[in-house]
Amino acid sequence: MSFTTLGLSEPILRAIKETGYITPTPIQKQAIPVILEGKDVLAGAQTGTGKTAGFTLPILQLLSDIPTQKGKGRKVRALILTPTRELAAQVAENVDAYSKYLPFSHAVIFGGVGINPQKARLKKGVDIVIATPGRLLDLSGQKAINLSSVEYLVLDEADRMLDMGFIHDIKKILALLPKKRQSLLFSATFSKDIKKLADTLLNSPVLIEVARANTTTSQVKQVVYPVDKSRKRELIIHLIKKNNWKQVLIFTRTKHGANKLSEVLAKRGITSAAIHGNKSQGARTKALANFKNGTVRTLVATDIAARGIDIDQLPHVINFELPNVPEDYIHRIGRTGRAGREGEAASLVCIDEKDLLRDIEKLIKTKIEKIQIEGFEPDPTIKPEPKKQNGARNSRNKNTRSRGQNRYSKGNRSNTKS
Ligand code: AMP
Repeated sequence: MSFTTLGLSEPILRAIKETGYITPTPIQKQAIPVILEGKDVLAGAQTGTGKTAGFTLPILQLLSDIPTQKGKGRKVRALILTPTRELAAQVAENVDAYSKYLPFSHAVIFGGVGINPQKARLKKGVDIVIATPGRLLDLSGQKAINLSSVEYLVLDEADRMLDMGFIHDIKKILALLPKKRQSLLFSATFSKDIKKLADTLLNSPVLIEVARANTTTSQVKQVVYPVDKSRKRELIIHLIKKNNWKQVLIFTRTKHGANKLSEVLAKRGITSAAIHGNKSQGARTKALANFKNGTVRTLVATDIAARGIDIDQLPHVINFELPNVPEDYIHRIGRTGRAGREGEAASLVCIDEKDLLRDIEKLIKTKIEKIQIEGFEPDPTIKPEPKKQNGARNSRNKNTRSRGQNRYSKGNRSNTKS
């Protein structure tokens, strides 16, 4: 099957051809015709499935069915909401590539950078807006954007938006949109909160699920390396050097941990950069670019900062620490094995993380293979540290929203922290 049978017009097909895609991915095959029919969609698809093109291509097609206004007369006709600035930027790159031969203009809106250039961009008139919720509301509050003509709404990575405490912002945005519109909700996992949101947002949606929600992509080889906490840094250096891994994305739980590990790697001759919420947007963009082009071999990231990072053929993901929330494991390893390519996800697991590992294995319904690296056997005399009484660790079985708010919201607007 090729893209030509999906109902897309010549300028879009030409742009697809130039990106090098030959066949549509399963989510694209299923979503594109349904969206072109004008139906609302609830889609379960992880990053790496080609979901971005799955909603961008048909929206471009639908937009081009009606002639667009020129210049300042343009109205915002499509709104794509994403949880993080990185994802917004990536979706924008997709829009840019696929609309190469179409007359549309778009704007990317996110916090953490100056608001004035965004206002100036909007003033010129745009058809498509890709935004994180907080900054979009700021701009709307300042009357710099009018959302009353939106015909198409996409919530991308909706589960993550809820995790980050964006639900109130989303509700405020929905109130600014016309009731009559087509809405699409994409999410890697389906919690009760996602279903509730889908009920308020979508009108008789068509449910599309590719890799079943709450399972990991099958192309990713997963392995656990048991090791003591104090020896994790040594083990990671050993693995990278011995296997001569060239491009490794490493996850840590904290910003401080990311910085520290990145410094240690650099000192030991493994080029490295860290990305997390305390870094400026410029520093993060640069780190990501250097990682993508191979200037740095390792990128150390916290969960939120890495959300939505799209790197072609990323071969290795390492969990330096397991995530507190099992769903984050799926998001993390979704960075590798993208769109049919093979990937490897390794987790360094110490005795304190046994429960986290058990929860992850329960969620993905798979026992992850354990490999003991010689010389890094855990010391049997080390006992687990007592668990903390407060915080995310203990609330992870509660609903997604309260868990997310524990972790990310703390009274701060999250689109400047991701
Ligand atoms: P996404 O799930 O949208 O983040 O896309 C994951 C990766 O797959 C991106 O690098 C896309 O450029 C790539 N991709 C999307 N659609 C296709 C396709 N039909 N064929 C090959 N690669 C694709």
